Amino acid sequence: MAGEPQADCLFCKIVAGTVPATVVRETGTTVAFRDINPQAPTHILIIPKVHYPDAASLTAAEPGIAADLLREAGEIAAEEKIDGHGYRVVFNTGAGAGQTVFHAHAHLLGGRGLEWPPG
Ligand code: 5GP
Ligand code: ZN
Repeated sequence: MAGEPQADCLFCKIVAGTVPATVVRETGTTVAFRDINPQAPTHILIIPKVHYPDAASLTAAEPGIAADLLREAGEIAAEEKIDGHGYRVVFNTGAGAGQTVFHAHAHLLGGRGLEWPPG
């Protein structure tokens, strides 16, 4: 069924607690944890508890949960105090854009200057 946990999905395992992560916040629909290979002083992944392969399929099926990810991004940015200087929220979608984990996730990046356009 759409949204059900996938046995071979790393982020479903983090949601289930069978793979450890440094969780910074959890809601009824989302989990946020520190990226294992941070690309900025603050680099947090915000994921839905339900499994969809990318942001587009999540939003098509569960728009309210997609909104939850964005709300969490803003609230965590304030908690982490990266909102004053500015931060970036990124959804890599597809292997050609650098997506390596096919469970929808937002990258929250900040704490340093961020160039535009990104590579
Ligand atoms: P993507 O490349 O799919 O947009 O993002 C996947 C992110 O997951 C990468 O930034 C990568 O560093 C992170 N990541 C991969 N495996 C783990 C893990 O086991 N734990 C945590 N906390 N992050 C991970
Ligand atoms: Zn998953």
